[in-house]
Amino acid sequence: MSTQPLFFEPVFKERIWGGEQLKSFGYELLSSQTGECWAFAAHSNGQSVVKNGEFKGSSLGELWEKQRELFGNIEGDRFPLLTKILDAAQDLSVQVHPDDEYGLKHEGDLGKTECWYIIDCEDGAEIIYGHTAKTREEFAAMIHEGKWDELLTKVPVKPGDFFFVPSGTVHAIGAGIVILETQQNSDTTYRVYDYDRRDNQGNLRELHVEQSIAVTTIPSIEPVSKPVVNTSGNMKITTFVESDYFTVHRWELEGSAKLDQNLSFQLVSVIEGAGSLIKGEEKYEFKKGDHFLLPFEFGEYELDGNAEMIVSHL
Ligand code: ZN
Repeated sequence: MSTQPLFFEPVFKERIWGGEQLKSFGYELLSSQTGECWAFAAHSNGQSVVKNGEFKGSSLGELWEKQRELFGNIEGDRFPLLTKILDAAQDLSVQVHPDDEYGLKHEGDLGKTECWYIIDCEDGAEIIYGHTAKTREEFAAMIHEGKWDELLTKVPVKPGDFFFVPSGTVHAIGAGIVILETQQNSDTTYRVYDYDRRDNQGNLRELHVEQSIAVTTIPSIEPVSKPVVNTSGNMKITTFVESDYFTVHRWELEGSAKLDQNLSFQLVSVIEGAGSLIKGEEKYEFKKGDHFLLPFEFGEYELDGNAEMIVSHL
């Protein structure tokens, strides 16, 4: 058992749509097109690494393989979640993910359900969430005719908004948005539309139109979010979603609060402010941009400070 929180060093990714906003989390950026910070990642394309305590230097994937007791010995051939912070300086491509059944059958990989917490955005920023087609035939026809403005549903966003994006939802993050994304640990993405953009070599990015038509939920679902708020002393906990794949909360701390971690594990991303975590005689400082995991049987502890955190667990 570990009674230490495990702080992780994220992995950064350059993206053509990335920017420089991730600097505000205290990160050193790769370039002026840094698009993604992979905070909790155990994926072949990126592994976050522990930076403190007895597991210092181990990747999340290694811990999952060799120290499964940290996660309550739950089953699974891979760590189930992936947490990222994204800076979309430009629009991301419009995409859709299959569900597990379709993903495993056609790609040999799980599908992907994800969710977004809007950390920050420019005035007027929008996401694409869903579409207007009533039947699969209509959906296919509008894609083939390029009726994108008619087909894709735009939704205005503001900081603090939360969106659950189940597999089968056509979606895109729009320009001027910094988002924290919690998702199933998979990479199966079908690109529906890329605004006919060309890269430096003049090439269009690959689209997956037939697969997109096959896996999209039709008619579309509305982006419903019914956050439940619980305030106890100095801690306000907002629960955004409890799904088959993950539960996501926002913790708003103002002062000191006593907590108890009795789940298989919890992932905590500090998105604002700073404070300390007190466990027995030990004290761990944290600040905006830090990401720590509270392992199985972590038990009772105290948080002290002024901070906002996004917390996820199974
Ligand atoms: Zn996606």
